[in-house]
Amino acid sequence: MQAMRGELKLILEDGAKVDRLPDGMPFHQTCTAYWNQLPFYGVSRFFPSEQSCIDRVRDVRWPAGPCCLRCGSAVLTWVASRCLFQCADCRHQFSVKTDTVLHRSRLPLRTWFLATEIVIESYRFISSRDYVTAKHLGRTFGISYETAWRLRQTVLNDLKRRDSLLAAVVCTGPHPY
Ligand SMILES: [Zn+2]
Repeated sequence: MQAMRGELKLILEDGAKVDRLPDGMPFHQTCTAYWNQLPFYGVSRFFPSEQSCIDRVRDVRWPAGPCCLRCGSAVLTWVASRCLFQCADCRHQFSVKTDTVLHRSRLPLRTWFLATEIVIESYRFISSRDYVTAKHLGRTFGISYETAWRLRQTVLNDLKRRDSLLAAVVCTGPHPY
């Protein structure tokens, strides 16, 4: 049911559906394209738990099933207590966040998902008056200004990438309307 990364279709302002964003597209148009693909009833309802977010990142990163980041083996054990995969062949341990923009974050994945929705929502407008502030994110998630500032900056930097992981995980498909 959930769109895989490779299937993500973006809808531009003129209604055209594309696989990738055109080069040089203004960022507010990029965010409009992403906004059109956010879950209709919101990220909070679509991803109600931390586990649902972990599953989503796993499915987006490894559409054919997770495999070891070091040796490529698909024989993995899930260490639930630490939210880590352990490779049965080389013993390497890694999480769905390893080697991504989220690698060193201690914030819950769900905070990243919800913050990404808020940033996309605010940056789809051309006026900087509407851009979400670090202060607002800090209050929303009960985190320090510094943490909120880094969260906002990391989300923005990732959304500006053509292969944005955060856009791929929160964009679940076109609205029914
Ligand atoms: Zn391995």
